[in-house]
Amino acid sequence: MGVIICSKHGESGFTQRISRSICDLIDSDTPISDENLSIVSLNMYDDGEFLGTNSYLISRDELDQAGVSEQNDVTTEEQYDAILDKLPEMSGVCYDCLEEYKVRHHIELLSFK
Ligand SMILES: [Zn+2]
Repeated sequence: MGVIICSKHGESGFTQRISRSICDLIDSDTPISDENLSIVSLNMYDDGEFLGTNSYLISRDELDQAGVSEQNDVTTEEQYDAILDKLPEMSGVCYDCLEEYKVRHHIELLSFK
């Protein structure tokens, strides 16, 4: 998680790997339901050793357009980049703004962190 200067919260955490279209909805305070969301997970392995998972929050429509699975095991950078290339443009939002948005609209965002 990086750091940004939020107009509302000042120096704040930056939640990344959210598609730009969803960031726009959060910025404009437009609710989005979990049914319209999906998380694409890239589970990274090196020589059979599990390194971690990077998750990307995108809309259901964007998932359909990308044509990728929600769970992906990747072992090379090339595999990782190939999947990332298919995903929509990614952006991020202020962590505190995201938390407030979730509470205000009772949105779970599929427990995305
Ligand atoms: Zn903020």
